[in-house]
Amino acid sequence: MSARGDKRHKGSQGRGRRGSADDARSLERRQGRDRRVRVVYVACEGEQTEPDYLDYLDETFGAGAPGKPGFKLYPITAKNGLLPAETVARVTDRAGTDEAWVLFDRDGSDRDADIQQALLDAAAAKVEVGFSHPSFDLWLLLHFQAFSGAQHGSSTSIVDRLQNTKATDAFREYDKRNNKNVTSAPRRKALHGNEQKAVDHARALVKHCEHGDCQPGTAAWQPVSRSNSSGGEPQQRISWQRWSARSGHAEHCPVLHRDPSTDVWRLLVSLGIVAVR
Ligand SMILES: [Zn+2]
Repeated sequence: MSARGDKRHKGSQGRGRRGSADDARSLERRQGRDRRVRVVYVACEGEQTEPDYLDYLDETFGAGAPGKPGFKLYPITAKNGLLPAETVARVTDRAGTDEAWVLFDRDGSDRDADIQQALLDAAAAKVEVGFSHPSFDLWLLLHFQAFSGAQHGSSTSIVDRLQNTKATDAFREYDKRNNKNVTSAPRRKALHGNEQKAVDHARALVKHCEHGDCQPGTAAWQPVSRSNSSGGEPQQRISWQRWSARSGHAEHCPVLHRDPSTDVWRLLVSLGIVAVR
């Protein structure tokens, strides 16, 4: 939870058509909105689909509902994307002690060392990791159907299924001519209402992880204190294996072998959009 304090916001990362977090906060203060709204910064590897999706969550669910506190998501992006370790660096820089998440993918094998570094840095800074294997596209597909079978880093089969899902025509042109937005009304309408299904499907992937010891019931998503300043609780070091086991995968389940998997479901549960069942 954020108390909305005197957080520092350095740099100009993430500014652009979505505006800056500082501007948005000033606006909220002017309008006298509830300062206790939960603030979550999310740095994204991709420059379009993930931040589009976060905007969708923010606009659709951010106001909250009876019994569900509101939230404000601040996507952090960069033109041409960010490497996984860069997402952790950017969100650590921007979020101060507010809640911080990163979203990145396996997406081939040429960045494995960088992913490892990102996992180490995320554990040290208590940044939640939403890792998808092979890609964020899997999370979108899970809104419409279950999925299984190792993809070895390739998203071809997942995108093909997304384009040809019987549930909707909205993704028919997805990933054609770089059309990977989640801003169009038909795509948002197609996703909306299927969040519970997506979470259930993603949790099933944890349960059926070939490693064998992975259980979605052991996953964690409650906000943790990221404060290491005086007056706050002292930072406790946590191993990157233990931190990445917040996904529900066992500590000794190799992250790069979680194929297929996506941890994005934990963000929706954490935000109160969906309850686990
Ligand atoms: Zn596993």
